[in-house]
Amino acid sequence: APSKIESSHLPSTQCLNIKPIKDSGDDDHLLHRSFIDPPALVERAEGVNLFLSDGRKVIDACAGAAVALIGHGNKEVHQAIINQLQKVSYVHTQSYTTQPAEDLANLILRGSPHGLEKAFFVGSGSEAVESALKLARQYYFEKNQLERLHIVSRRQGYHGNTMTTMSISGNLARKIPFEGFSYPHTSQVSPAFAYRNMRDDETEIEYTARLLQELEDEFLRVGPYKVMAFIAEPVAGSGIGSVTPPAGYLAGVRALCDKYGILLIFDEIMCGVGRTGSFFAFEQEGDVVPDIMTIAKGLGGGYAPISGVLVHKRVIDVLRHGSKAFNHGHTYQAHPTSCAAALAVQRIVLRDGLIARCAAMGKILESILRTELQDCWSVGDIRGRGLFWTVEFVKNKETKETFDPSVHFGVRVQQAAFNKGVALYPCSGTVDGKKGDHLMLAPPFIITDEELRTVCKVLREAIEFQQQLYS
Ligand code: PMP
Repeated sequence: APSKIESSHLPSTQCLNIKPIKDSGDDDHLLHRSFIDPPALVERAEGVNLFLSDGRKVIDACAGAAVALIGHGNKEVHQAIINQLQKVSYVHTQSYTTQPAEDLANLILRGSPHGLEKAFFVGSGSEAVESALKLARQYYFEKNQLERLHIVSRRQGYHGNTMTTMSISGNLARKIPFEGFSYPHTSQVSPAFAYRNMRDDETEIEYTARLLQELEDEFLRVGPYKVMAFIAEPVAGSGIGSVTPPAGYLAGVRALCDKYGILLIFDEIMCGVGRTGSFFAFEQEGDVVPDIMTIAKGLGGGYAPISGVLVHKRVIDVLRHGSKAFNHGHTYQAHPTSCAAALAVQRIVLRDGLIARCAAMGKILESILRTELQDCWSVGDIRGRGLFWTVEFVKNKETKETFDPSVHFGVRVQQAAFNKGVALYPCSGTVDGKKGDHLMLAPPFIITDEELRTVCKVLREAIEFQQQLYS
């Protein structure tokens, strides 16, 4: 039976306590995420800044949710969207294709990097993961391995909000009140999360070996011939906050999937498209290549909703020689305007060397963060890569004990920082069954040193303010 979960676990993530956009009344029909905490009305956004209706300017230090990688208000992208709208605003992919869709796939997969051969574009991250899972299922259908339905994922992983993607996500807060509303063939193993789970008496190599043993044991428990896929974020995102895996982990995962003929899916919706300092996050993990992968946020940079499923040649070949089609589609698949927007964004990223800039600015951000926050007693961990960083708050640095969820420590720091003009992203994951306190920094790649300094200074002040209130 579904278990009742304490209301303190409910995601109060957006509670910024901003004054209502307008007095509630007859003209208040948009359903916001929360009935209590109205969102801020953004009138204009430019570069790294959001301009609110009450006249305030806020640095978007999380690019929404690691989305706006070239910043806001880029005129070149606007023009590309207008040009496309004037040519073809929409056609259905059953019978038609458009140039921006073709060009976008070719730009991302030029020369089939790592054997990734085909791209499939949909609207959101959840749709991309759902499509990736259906593609994995069709792969086994073509191979007549019909028992393969089981998906192994990781606790604290996040893969989306639709029924299947929610079922394979370990994110407790987002599952309330949907327990039981789920895809049944799934189980979770431990995330690769050294700060929380590596033992003091263990080396990194031993920790990796333990995680891999757990994964193999899970494959064997389910019956490897029943497992369809293992899915993981190479650098974990919104569940636990920019966690890089221990050395050798992804290579070991790849080897286990190969041993049992299980498809490996990487979800790079948050960590991909340059966010960690390389186009694919897996490129910094020994080039461990997945069979299927998903990308989203940075792809369109927020200018249009778009996500992608990238597919390895070995999966495509099975479909090519089998049904000769992927039996899945959406009305707005490869939407021409979204593809044109993403194409313009990616061309700017390439032309301006923004991924190299992200890697370089990431090093600067790390160093400022470590210096600014070194004396904050509540900062348990600072972790990340590229321009993808997370601060984890704890009640006790030594024991890593978390705050009581009712304290909402992280959200309150977020709120204080916002009031001082810096927007940060709260991760909604759990730590040892309790809501954790994490804040994520994932600014646009165009952010300057000086802006990073302001962001970190404001973050320190917000933390100190919250520490004082707590003690
Ligand atoms: N996978 C990952 C890794 C994500 O970070 C997200 C969004 N935070 C999703 C899937 C779901 O994407 P969307 O919210 O666009 O459906």
